[in-house]
Amino acid sequence: MTAAATLELNKAHWPVTVLGPGRRIGLWVQGCAIGCRGCVSQDTWAADPARAIAVADLLAWCRRVAQPGPDGVTISGGEPFGQPEGLRALLEGLARWRSEAGLDFDILCYSGYPLAALRRRHGDLLALLDAVIPEPYVEAMPITHLWRGSGNQPLVPLSQRGRARYAAHVDAAAEAAGKRMQVAVEGGRIWMIGIPARGDMARVETLCAERGLSLQQVSWRR
Ligand code: SF4
Repeated sequence: MTAAATLELNKAHWPVTVLGPGRRIGLWVQGCAIGCRGCVSQDTWAADPARAIAVADLLAWCRRVAQPGPDGVTISGGEPFGQPEGLRALLEGLARWRSEAGLDFDILCYSGYPLAALRRRHGDLLALLDAVIPEPYVEAMPITHLWRGSGNQPLVPLSQRGRARYAAHVDAAAEAAGKRMQVAVEGGRIWMIGIPARGDMARVETLCAERGLSLQQVSWRR
């Protein structure tokens, strides 16, 4: 990793319990050029250099907050593979932390690119991951499987650790882990973390309005 490596970051949260097994660090990058219809994270679409953070600082935050060590790290967005240099620095830094601290956390990454394209263009990055959930979000395909937003998205273990940890979840039903969403409040913003069912965000808006709470800006519309 070069000392100057940066990553445009939308948000980071600990602990995340709805995007992979166990208590996880959640990192959402800023910037996605794919533009899936119905994406609930449209606030992450625009690249924004003002959101660039030194990867070294992000790794220091991970080490500080995730005590005594995470079960996993989930990287989403935004499109993580849209920033390959920053992603590589992050993945190498996480692997170094895991090794130096004697930890065994897994690294799961989401991508809106097809698996074949990732293998062709980013095999070096896939080699640093334990599992990937690729393919674009397809609004017309219902949620069928755990941790996936639409039925076309596979869960692909990539390493020995990934196979040991994720094999049992590859075909698991969407409801297999119980809770699907968690809520965090930070800096006057409400984060909905997880995979919402179709219509959930509209229902949240309606329920808030019924209680006199009007949402000023929401990430599922532009
Ligand atoms: S679902 Fe993911 S890949 Fe698709 S537009 Fe949204 S952030 Fe990008």
